Amino acid sequence: MPYDYDLFVIGAGSGGVRAGRISASYGARVAVAEDSALGGTCVNVGCIPKKLLVYASHFPADFEDAVAGYGWTVGEQSFDWSTLIRNKNKEIQRLNGVYDGLLSSVGVKLVRGRARIVDPHTVAVGDDRYSAETILVATGGRPVVPDVPGAEHAITSDDAFFLAELPQRVLIVGGGYIAVEFAGIFHGLGAEVVQLYRGPLFLRGFDDDVRSFLADEMRKKRIDLRFDLNVDAIEKTESGLRVKLSDGSQLEVDQLLYATGRAPNSAGLGLEEVGVERNAKGAINVDEYSRSSVPSIYAIGDVTDRIALTPVAIHEGMCLASTLYLDKALSPDHKDVPSAVFSQPPIASVGLSESEAREQYGALDVYVSKFRTLKNTLTGSDEKMLMKLIVDRESDRVLGVHVVGPEAAEIVQGFAVGIKLNATKADFDATIGIHPTAAEELVTMREPRAEV
Ligand code: FAD
Repeated sequence: MPYDYDLFVIGAGSGGVRAGRISASYGARVAVAEDSALGGTCVNVGCIPKKLLVYASHFPADFEDAVAGYGWTVGEQSFDWSTLIRNKNKEIQRLNGVYDGLLSSVGVKLVRGRARIVDPHTVAVGDDRYSAETILVATGGRPVVPDVPGAEHAITSDDAFFLAELPQRVLIVGGGYIAVEFAGIFHGLGAEVVQLYRGPLFLRGFDDDVRSFLADEMRKKRIDLRFDLNVDAIEKTESGLRVKLSDGSQLEVDQLLYATGRAPNSAGLGLEEVGVERNAKGAINVDEYSRSSVPSIYAIGDVTDRIALTPVAIHEGMCLASTLYLDKALSPDHKDVPSAVFSQPPIASVGLSESEAREQYGALDVYVSKFRTLKNTLTGSDEKMLMKLIVDRESDRVLGVHVVGPEAAEIVQGFAVGIKLNATKADFDATIGIHPTAAEELVTMREPRAEV
């Protein structure tokens, strides 16, 4: 045994834990280093706590609907942020323990501390050195705050999960999914929310109809969306923050949350010294099997900046374990990855946006439906739902499915299987709907939108 371990993983997040534990179950001798809480971003400051806060923030709208249309009388309501955060923290601690158990149950050695690569087969954690045939970097990413005077007074999504109290006036800066999700969370919990984005419309990369539909729906809820605008400076005042905007106006808020992007965690790992190549954003360059420019060093997850989502990091970890220890080389499949934005209302998509499809395929049939859900016929709410199918006219293949509205993510997960199987519009038409649901709309759309 020339090395202490077959595999040394740096980072016990979504990708690292999966790669480590599956490799160990295939017989590899594995160690995983982690300098923070087990489970990484998703468990501690990402998907899980975020979704719990989304659930919490939805209750006021549910109470309102119950009273408005369904005959309920709801007593006086009050909300206690500290109870929510305490309960959330308890659940996260439970999950940290679950991750510990997942590793120890297959004999993975957990090394606590910050890891650094010393040479292509050696990792240092504190004063200890560990040799390994293969090193896997799965160190994830971190929020980036722009260089603006007073930015030290702002918070990031990492901080938002641990605020001592619920801010009453919040400015969210950014146009990505995390910004949109926090706008919905704080608004739902009762705060006045302004969301600022420097471009003309948020959620770049999503289908244009989806983007503008969500903006309309958020504005109907009185979330103050302001586009083509930026922050020039932030000042601390006695009562909160004074924010100077690029149009010369000012805002007084309690908290400013920067959700302006994330950067790969690749600094200080010794990568440059051992010759691991990175791109201009600092992401580790890898080949189709997640191998870096140094043959014994691999990388998966957000640190490679391919698709920064938990199920993708997990998939990359599964493929790597198979490639290394099952003698079955698998390269991760990044095509048609479904995704959701847990905005209010939520978005989910799989496949191509209309503009991507036009670029790649040319002639399309596009089916769009906007409607009021059955539930809202009694509540009087003017919230609408959007469904959109993008079909390649030549082959009849469905290239994209987009949904904005309640349970969008639950709906699109199932349709993603159809997209992976190259389903055609005729297959959608041949599928009987489940009635009464919103999702049945996706299998009953008959008339494509007229070309303009
Ligand atoms: P991570 O999970 O970030 O794990 C990296 C780990 O490495 C961390 O634990 C870190 O402490 C550790 N580490 C770093 N450097 C070192 C070192 N030198 N030594 C030891 N340990 C180190 N994805 C979804 O799919 N759905 C969602 O709804 C979703 N919501 C999100 C919401 C927010 C607010 C954020 C920020 C992210 C969200 N994501 C979501 C993205 C998801 O969290 C990431 O894609 C996923 O966690 C990436 O996994 P990873 O293994 O690459 O890295």
